[in-house]
Amino acid sequence: MEDKILLGSHVSMSGPDYFLGSVKEALSYGENVLMFYTGAPQNNKRTPTEKCKIEEGLKLAKENNMELDKFVCHAPYMINLGNPDEEKFKFSKDFLKSEILRCADFKCRYLVLHPGLHVHAGEEVGLNNIIRGLNEVLEEVKDIDVIICLETMAGKGTELGTSFEQIKKIIDGVKYNDKIAVCLDTCHINDAGYIVDDIDAVLNKFDFIIGLDKLKVIHLNDSKNPLGAHKDRHENIGFGEIGFDSLIKYVYDSRLKNVPKILETPYVENNPPYKEEIEMIKKKEFNPSLKEIICSK
Ligand code: FE
Ligand code: FE
Ligand code: ZN
Repeated sequence: MEDKILLGSHVSMSGPDYFLGSVKEALSYGENVLMFYTGAPQNNKRTPTEKCKIEEGLKLAKENNMELDKFVCHAPYMINLGNPDEEKFKFSKDFLKSEILRCADFKCRYLVLHPGLHVHAGEEVGLNNIIRGLNEVLEEVKDIDVIICLETMAGKGTELGTSFEQIKKIIDGVKYNDKIAVCLDTCHINDAGYIVDDIDAVLNKFDFIIGLDKLKVIHLNDSKNPLGAHKDRHENIGFGEIGFDSLIKYVYDSRLKNVPKILETPYVENNPPYKEEIEMIKKKEFNPSLKEIICSK
């Protein structure tokens, strides 16, 4: 008997097919959920959502029994609510607000957000800026049905959100925190110093500090770097320092049954790896030749 699992990957969202293209791409990999950016993650140029073929995409997804209420959107990297510079902070707030509204246009409920960087202003100042930013944004869009999922970060540079305690601190500071949840990235927590293989320890700790009901998205990635490296370089499933057996625990654990698992693993010589990785995950058996198979397509 096959377990029903929520499994997808990051897919592109670009012209001419936009969201319809995103859904087609996810289906071509055998996915029932997906994650997309509403535009280029590194700039703020955005195609108006009326042109993004949203209805066509949603229709195709529905026809193919995808889990629409578990689709995920990722906010652009440019947003940094931790920024001590008032102008950049304001830019980040405005951009986040417009992304929340766009996300709602896609009927997408979960928006993953990197909590922010303190840019050498220190952890305390940074966390307080993030809290203030989230409060000011949510005050304006509290009636929109979009949940901001704060992503657990690797701790590269001055990144915040590198421990469950920091994430909890942010959640506690936000007034409308029913609108805040968490995205757990396996590569990032490995790089932040959590032993991914010990899923009971990870989930118990998460539950004790934040509450497992807040865990809404898993980013399923292997890591090129060892425990605690603070690097954030993703690796294909089973080819990194975390390893296949440790990662698939998160796919099949009953406590995470309703949480979408999204692959953000790297392309292999310009080829998307997701179809092959998903097949391998469903077989529950690591294939050391997977990269050659991906390249030979
Ligand atoms: Fe991310
Ligand atoms: Fe991630
Ligand atoms: Zn990452």
